[in-house]
Amino acid sequence: MQRGVAAAVTYLLLLVVGWESFQVGTRRRAQLADITDRVGAIVERSGVRDGVCHVYVPHTTAGVTINEGADPDVARDMERHLGGLVPKESDFEHAEGNSDSHIKTALIGASASAPVRGGKLALGTWQAIFLCEWDGPRTRTVEVAVSSL
Ligand code: ZN
Repeated sequence: MQRGVAAAVTYLLLLVVGWESFQVGTRRRAQLADITDRVGAIVERSGVRDGVCHVYVPHTTAGVTINEGADPDVARDMERHLGGLVPKESDFEHAEGNSDSHIKTALIGASASAPVRGGKLALGTWQAIFLCEWDGPRTRTVEVAVSSL
């Protein structure tokens, strides 16, 4: 009986509250869009005190990363210099003409996670969460789930 109760409590503590999504309209072909406030609002609504916030972007030419948000020049530098690392024109085989966008998305990744403490997103002092657009302007979807520890 005691074990059953412990298992039920463990299950409830591990329960993911549910995925929530929102849309982001990007304005440039390459753009790091700060989505920290929108993700933070979902965390606060979830009611989870201590846990993990998962952020996922269901796209092949846009990703998500956590990096410096205090100085907007950092995001601009990433937009420009990743473009320099992977130029738009090269001997790509993909006929859509956006192979550079797929490659930059692969480098950045489609998901990120951050701690939740005291009911809030617990990022580092200088950190922000960015949707990384590499083939805009477009409307993108961001999926967020908050799970309790
Ligand atoms: Zn493509």
